[in-house]
Amino acid sequence: MLNRLDEQSPDALLALIKMHAADTRSDKIDLGVGVYRTDDGGTPVFAAIKRAEQQLVDEQDSKSYLGPEGDMGFVNALMPYVFGEDATMGGRIAGMQTPGGTGAVRLALALGQKAGMTKLHMGTPSWPNHAQIINDLALELVPFDHAKPDGTADLDAVLAAIRGAGPNEGILLHGCCHNPTGVDYSDEDWAAIGDAIAETGIFPIIDTAYHGLGHGLDEDVVGLRSVLAKVPEAFIAYSCDKNFGMYRDRVGAFYILSDGQETLNKAFSNANALARASWSMPPDHGAAAVRLILRDSELTQVWQDELEQMRDRMRLVREKLADAGVQGSVDMTPLGGQNGLFSVLPVSKEQVAQLRDDHGIYMAGSGRINIAGLTMGNIDKFIGAIAEVTA
Ligand code: PMP
Repeated sequence: MLNRLDEQSPDALLALIKMHAADTRSDKIDLGVGVYRTDDGGTPVFAAIKRAEQQLVDEQDSKSYLGPEGDMGFVNALMPYVFGEDATMGGRIAGMQTPGGTGAVRLALALGQKAGMTKLHMGTPSWPNHAQIINDLALELVPFDHAKPDGTADLDAVLAAIRGAGPNEGILLHGCCHNPTGVDYSDEDWAAIGDAIAETGIFPIIDTAYHGLGHGLDEDVVGLRSVLAKVPEAFIAYSCDKNFGMYRDRVGAFYILSDGQETLNKAFSNANALARASWSMPPDHGAAAVRLILRDSELTQVWQDELEQMRDRMRLVREKLADAGVQGSVDMTPLGGQNGLFSVLPVSKEQVAQLRDDHGIYMAGSGRINIAGLTMGNIDKFIGAIAEVTA
């Protein structure tokens, strides 16, 4: 039976990690894998997480089952950061813990499909796993351009997608720090997007995987909140794996917004059933640590300071790249106005290979770079290599 299966291509980024590991050049640069790095090139455990984990070791008295919705203390503690002071929007939001942001996206799309959604509009390029999940569920993906060639968001394209949508269609939007482009909608863009969604009734699904890594915890959710304020229903997929550095511990949450209590309860019960059928219940450890941080004002401050340091460092790298301006055929100026871990450089696959072979610089074939892979020690080499390879 198993010989009927087709070989699947390996994850390109994982292949890149292996090639980078095998490269013996001491000045090699890894801009591939999507984790934050310090100026020393490390991805350390957050100090706030270390302290919360210690507390868990000391105080946790049971590891018995929690249930498909996971740690509701975590889910609720996160809500004011995402949705604001009125964290449930008057009782209109219900949430559950998921295995990472990926689990939340999967649940959002599966639940949308169960409710009758057939087509999903999405700006491209996007995080590759979005398309994989959409394909796996056999939903129809309708792509539109996310960004314009000048490195800013294509507002007309998203508005046209929303206005042209029929019934039972959804739209998947990145809340902030778009992966892979780093190109976010402005607050004014989000206002127009929210109005258009409210007018047409397309179902919004907002994926927020980099909250706090753009301009700040409040600033990064202005768009999300402005859409939610205008629409009757929405799904929000949330990841704590970047903003708490929990990658392998798989910390995420899924939230449902509805304008009717009965509908909200029904939708939640379906999400719960889907979670049960998929992973039964999410892993506890990381979410419990995040809960301890968010319930302790001192730890919350430690966490927010760490987040601010990450943000400031990525801003500094972006400023240096933007200051370098045009290098060879690449204009790096737009990177200064983009957000988060990623941006895409207009380089060909051949140029990407040349950067790897001649300079030991590893990046995705799409031209996506991890901004945090650049440090004050290697950025000049990187800029010089771009100039040389694209000259
Ligand atoms: N959405 C987007 C846009 C992402 O970039 C990622 C992570 N790469 C996720 C969701 C999922 O994150 P997690 O690791 O928490 O599953």
